[in-house]
Amino acid sequence: MFVYMDHTATTPVSPEVLKVMTPYFSEMFGNPSSVYSFSKKSRAAIEKAREQVAKALNAEASEIFFTSSGTEADNWALKGTLERAIKLNKGDHLITSAIEHHAILHTAEYLEKYHGVKVTYLPVDSEGFINLNDLENSITEKTALVSIMFANNEVGTIQPVKEIGKICRAHKIPFHTDAVQAAAQLNIDVKNLNIDMLSLSGHKMYAPKGVGVLYIRKGVHPENFMHGGAQEKGKRASTENIAGIVGLGEAMEILKGRFDDDKKKISAWRDEIISGIKNKIPYAKLNGATGENRLPNNINFSFIGVEGETLLLDLDLKGVCASTGSACSSESLDPSHVLMAMGLKHEMAHGSVRLTLGRLNDYEQVKYILEVLPEIVSRRREMSPLWEEFLKSEGASK
Ligand code: PLP
Repeated sequence: MFVYMDHTATTPVSPEVLKVMTPYFSEMFGNPSSVYSFSKKSRAAIEKAREQVAKALNAEASEIFFTSSGTEADNWALKGTLERAIKLNKGDHLITSAIEHHAILHTAEYLEKYHGVKVTYLPVDSEGFINLNDLENSITEKTALVSIMFANNEVGTIQPVKEIGKICRAHKIPFHTDAVQAAAQLNIDVKNLNIDMLSLSGHKMYAPKGVGVLYIRKGVHPENFMHGGAQEKGKRASTENIAGIVGLGEAMEILKGRFDDDKKKISAWRDEIISGIKNKIPYAKLNGATGENRLPNNINFSFIGVEGETLLLDLDLKGVCASTGSACSSESLDPSHVLMAMGLKHEMAHGSVRLTLGRLNDYEQVKYILEVLPEIVSRRREMSPLWEEFLKSEGASK
């Protein structure tokens, strides 16, 4: 059986999305900036996609800016805001969290190194939540931006975004959120949630790779990030990725129409896998929050005595695509920074496996996972000195 349970790493382009994109690769190839009427079709397609995204987020079309990725949107929000604040003498302090994606963390490090920005990395509790008092206490008159992710890509914890936005509004500090993982699964209303900037990525929501969005609320002015032509109202240069943009717009419209059904089905499978693993595998530790505070599709466990990488290879032999940590750091052997920030011991952070559900799954696959995973963990533990040691320390016998 082939089981793709890594929808957080990426998703396939859905057939409906591919269909609307296809003409923009070939017959409708006009440059949207050209003056002749042929090119106006490309322009109209981009503007339609902008409306679709705006509607999905309860934003205005004029507040939607297309980028090349979620990473670019994150870079733009952070660098653009801090560089401008420094230039205008309005502060040089950034508040973010210890469990952000590297698109945020490495950008924050860059700002520290090259622009002297002071960065506060808010800690998280054992389920991955920041503390709102910590946020409030970290704000100074120099704070130029708060950037806290909507939902974590490794453990699926959903932050109290509305309350974070409220605190930022009260202090008149712009609030950016990386919603790359949240947008495919949750209804997001930027007005209701007090969000000033928000990043999205096409390939996490059944649209293609290489396209993203930065929502910038009217009245918020990050400095431009990509310099060149006058595209995106002069704010983001480069000839538009029309097919990608059209695909992203369509994908968001489709998502909106099926959110509630998808969420019900997928979260029921999630809960069945979580309780099945807990019942069948002794000392299985669920990482992250539970219920409504966890992304409907996220399952993340640590199994003492078993290396995450080994589990992935064993799962691969059984036809299962899963992940340990984020896909982007899969080439690194460091334990996950997210799990370490949540207080896991090194060996537990190393032994984590993430399964993320989506449109490619069905109930047969849920049952299959609950058959193969317990077998694999048990076999690996049989060979593990760490497991032996652990059992001794627990006073149990094998
Ligand atoms: N932010 C989060 C939370 C992510 O999970 C990812 C990708 O995994 C990104 C940003 C980067 O998005 P992209 O791959 O579009 O650059």
